[in-house]
Amino acid sequence: MVSVYYAYVLCGFTSVLGTGLTFLLSHPQMDFRMEKVLRLYRLGFAFLIPLLSLAVIPIEKRALIMPILLGSVATGAACLGWALRELIAEPLANKPMLVATFTLGLAMVGAKWALSPRAYSLVLIGVYAAIGLLLLMDHAWTVRSRRDRPATASRSEQVLIITLTAYTGIFVTGWLHGLTHESAVYPEHGLYLPDWLLPGAATVIAIFPLLVAVTAFAVINERLVKRLENMMLTDALTGVYSRRGLNELGPLLVSEHHRQGHAVAVLMVDIDHFKRINDTHGHAVGDLALKQVGAVLREHLRADALVARYGGEEFTALLPVQQPSEAVQAAERLRVAISETPLAEQTAQIQLTASIGIAIAWPRTGLDDALVESDAYLYQAKHMGRNRVVASRETVDLEPISV
Ligand code: GH3
Ligand code: MG
Ligand code: MG
Repeated sequence: MVSVYYAYVLCGFTSVLGTGLTFLLSHPQMDFRMEKVLRLYRLGFAFLIPLLSLAVIPIEKRALIMPILLGSVATGAACLGWALRELIAEPLANKPMLVATFTLGLAMVGAKWALSPRAYSLVLIGVYAAIGLLLLMDHAWTVRSRRDRPATASRSEQVLIITLTAYTGIFVTGWLHGLTHESAVYPEHGLYLPDWLLPGAATVIAIFPLLVAVTAFAVINERLVKRLENMMLTDALTGVYSRRGLNELGPLLVSEHHRQGHAVAVLMVDIDHFKRINDTHGHAVGDLALKQVGAVLREHLRADALVARYGGEEFTALLPVQQPSEAVQAAERLRVAISETPLAEQTAQIQLTASIGIAIAWPRTGLDDALVESDAYLYQAKHMGRNRVVASRETVDLEPISV
């Protein structure tokens, strides 16, 4: 027979390990919200640690301490559930949640004396089941309503959901069992479950804190990797993709649009006489100009275009188009927008212009050839006097054409 008390002691022990894991996760560079989530985890674990005392308290004295311990466990479970909710979704209204969590814990302590053993057992199991069910429903709702993130859960979120479903399943079954099975004796430990479910429930209780900590570890790790990836793929100054971002995402975008039967235009955009701006107004103003051109490109191109800083003061835009001539119109729009957005610098109004070379990335030639080709047309645009668009024969009828 599995001893639930033994599982409770193990739960206290794994809570100590869980607390240790959250300390390992803490990092000076961690953002404020993540720090808050970790503190909440620690608080939840702290409420489970007193279960360790069952290892030393004599059996005849347990009746006194059990209500307090079970209240503490309910509070701890609610805190951990809350931390998990904060970790995988948007923050909740914190104060009401905090009050509800502690009221729940206190009510559990009081209920032990006020209710019959049967009613208490049902309430306790019902509380655990409700925490699990609410978290599952809340998570499903949040995933569906997220606009900025894909509607599918990440792998670590999936592990979390499976864990939570198993946990909830056990307590829902236990609750139904309590409703339908009358018993003369209800256990002091508060878990009136069918015999076949007790080993599973005891195991879940024993390793629950560790499962929670490890899944938190996985989710946070996934976040950090994603943030690092973003940092690697974006240009710190302008916020558009970096050269590395172009190298990694460009070929994917091109092959995806080729599959859909669309052409992808490559626009190479280079600021005219940029060195002069640096020399006359200083590097800080030069940086401002780069930011502005990045913003103009983003603003005037559709969301399915990829904008990257190719290097220095040269930008690349990959533009899915139905007709290659669309690319010339888009480039012309960009050229005008860049020249019509003056860079205000104290008293002097600096006018920026840019030259643009266009080539089409075909399935047979690929992106790399188109990049080289668009750069050659850009070179021609510079030689033809700058502030102009030059495109390949495939893009318009004549080769090369100055628009
Ligand atoms: P052209 O019209 O022929 O393109 O002339 P240009 O002066 O724009 O071209 P050039 O390639 O001679 O000069 C590019 C300058 O861009 C040189 C470099 O100092 C400057 N530059 C490159 N990266 C940065 C940056 O991150 N910030 C600033 N402020 N300047 C940069
Ligand atoms: Mg230049
Ligand atoms: Mg250049």
